Amino acid sequence: MKGAAMTTTSRLELPAIGLGTWLRERARSRATARTRQRERLVLVGNGMVGHRLCARLVELGALDRYEVVIYGDEATPAYDRVHLTDVLKGRNPHELLLSRAEWYAEHGIELRLAERVTAVFTGERRILTESGRTDRYDKLVLATGARARLPNIPVDGPGLLVAYRTLEDARSILERLEHGGPSERSIVVLGGGLLGIEAARAFQGLGCRVVVLEAASQILPRNLDPVGAEALLAMLRDAGLEVRVRARVERIERAPSGVRVVLEDAPPLEAGLVVAAIGTRAADDLARAAGLRCSMHGGVEVNARLCTSAPHVFAVGDCANDGRVPHGLVAPGYAMADVLAENLVGRRRRFEPEQAVTRLKLDITEVTILGNPHESTATELVYRAPGVYRRLLVRDRRILGAISIGAWAELAALQRLVGESRKVSERSLQRFTESGLLGTSDEKSRLAVLPDSAVVCQCMGVSCGRLRRAVAEGATTPDALGRVTLAGTLCGSCRPTLAALCGAPASAPAPGRALGLLGGAALLLAVATALVPRVPLAQRFAERGIDVLWIDPTAKQVTGFTLLGFVTLGMLLSVRKRVRRFRLGSYSFFRLLHGILGTAALVALFAHTGFRLGTNLDLVLMVVFLVATTTGALSALLAHRLAPGIGHGAVARIATVGRRLHDYAFWPLPVLIFIHVLKSYYF
Ligand SMILES: Cc1cc2nc3c(=O)[nH]c(=O)nc-3n(C[C@H](O)[C@H](O)[C@H](O)COP(=O)(O)OP(=O)(O)OC[C@H]3O[C@@H](n4cnc5c(N)ncnc54)[C@H](O)[C@@H]3O)c2cc1C
Repeated sequence: MKGAAMTTTSRLELPAIGLGTWLRERARSRATARTRQRERLVLVGNGMVGHRLCARLVELGALDRYEVVIYGDEATPAYDRVHLTDVLKGRNPHELLLSRAEWYAEHGIELRLAERVTAVFTGERRILTESGRTDRYDKLVLATGARARLPNIPVDGPGLLVAYRTLEDARSILERLEHGGPSERSIVVLGGGLLGIEAARAFQGLGCRVVVLEAASQILPRNLDPVGAEALLAMLRDAGLEVRVRARVERIERAPSGVRVVLEDAPPLEAGLVVAAIGTRAADDLARAAGLRCSMHGGVEVNARLCTSAPHVFAVGDCANDGRVPHGLVAPGYAMADVLAENLVGRRRRFEPEQAVTRLKLDITEVTILGNPHESTATELVYRAPGVYRRLLVRDRRILGAISIGAWAELAALQRLVGESRKVSERSLQRFTESGLLGTSDEKSRLAVLPDSAVVCQCMGVSCGRLRRAVAEGATTPDALGRVTLAGTLCGSCRPTLAALCGAPASAPAPGRALGLLGGAALLLAVATALVPRVPLAQRFAERGIDVLWIDPTAKQVTGFTLLGFVTLGMLLSVRKRVRRFRLGSYSFFRLLHGILGTAALVALFAHTGFRLGTNLDLVLMVVFLVATTTGALSALLAHRLAPGIGHGAVARIATVGRRLHDYAFWPLPVLIFIHVLKSYYF
């Protein structure tokens, strides 16, 4: 009757009862009217996945078909557990709520909080709660999630070891820290996994002294390889976090200062609080007791339609085990909820797990694990730079798994590559080993992850940080950046990067294929000159062929001066790079010309010497000349291979060293050539 009265409530009456109350009453009255013909869907667990299921049912209009009742044993409506640690950092817990209690009421969903379901009778389709209430169901969904695991060691009494899984856990930890003495502010975290490290950093942020104890030989043993774990450990230690690996706890005792953690192979630790973060186990006890089939690894067994072994009973989220998804991640749980909601309204969908993505939420760096990081049949490609560790597991040019420590703009693209099992090119993989980038993102996103210390302009040694500061101070074009920092004023290959940095269109094209070919040819010639045995000279005049070049004085003079001409021109071109007044034509044209002259000089050198290195000063001249041409050729070759302006990675470093050697080797050349010419005419 009340419901009927409410539906005729006039607008004038609304303020008297409040809009929220009116909406609730209206929803309840509608729900009461529909109850008779609807099926009763009982959901056990009001966690993240249980909430997702409800939200999807609402979206699909399934509440006309189902009368939904939720039992949750926590006192708070479903909240974002993934960001629970934010509460330790001071965030208001209310901001984590996925929906306010009113939302459930507005949709006619009955939410019974702080009421634990203690038994399921599948034969009678009934449940029993801890308050003694029984409820019947047509369909039952288990979304009981997981519970924090506690170590199997003797603990001297309650309150010494606390779990960290729920909002209540976070609140009580905060309360103890607030009201406890100074000793309370020293915390031992058991477990160096994702949760342990995340929580430990948060405790550190609260000004606590924190020690993390990990029993395995590395942190994040489930997620990282030993090298990656070592890299992350170093960052954590740099951030002042004390982490001990291979630390086995024997027992936990009460101590005058609070708690004593007795270790197997080390002196005991005194602390105010010991927090267990050693993982979770599926909350499947209810299902086990009801006789549902459960996995020996934990979790209620479900098929692709999320049906359990009992008719009309389904399971989703952390408590469900389909034998394929890793336990303890919210994304697969959400996908399960979506599939189940659709199946409940009559669609026939199967749950197909996506690639797992695991993230460690840290303030000091980003840690992401894609796919299976322990795939043993794959080849591993690793890239390391200060603050960056990237590892790809590749088989048949498909990336099966990846570990990334430090920001990486290509992660979204990489995730797609892993998820879709798409092949990547050899070039991308090679680029990855050289620069840590697959080339899947544009210049801007690549720049976003370049550390300030990365050198963008190799020629002038200008770092990314210096350029960013110049942009912040008003440089808006590559030319302006060049004027302020000198970047891009020498070889110009970094100009696309400069353009991306200041948001201007790129002006310098990437080094062309011709330059790469020239570089390769010149390198071959230079190496041949140094290594190939000299061409023998004919003994008699009649036998002379090409060796006339090295015997006939006129031919020697022609080849010598030709060589001198090429070298002089090549050196003059470098003046163009350094003196602005001579800057005619485009840089790439002059670079190509420089390459042609260098290669031509090597051909002329062969004509002049026939691979003879000579002796004394001639030998010195040859060595210097070969160093200059080899390094020049190598730089041209690498410039062709390198992504423009990405100043890190092994190839970039080799290219830089090559360019410097090339420059230095040219300085003594004029003097040595002068002495050589003088000596030839004098003697
Ligand atoms: C601090 C922290 C950080 C995390 N970070 C990430 C992350 O970065 N990425 C990620 O993917 N995952 C993360 N997780 C894991 C993620 O929160 C879980 O995968 C997700 O919450 C699972 O949702 P669920 O609904 O299946 O289970 P839960 O969220 O555990 O919800 C289950 C609910 O059911 C209730 N319940 C259980 N038994 C009963 C019963 N018999 N009667 C009534 N109610 C019952 C429980 O009390 C609970 O409220 C994190 C977890 C924590 C604790």
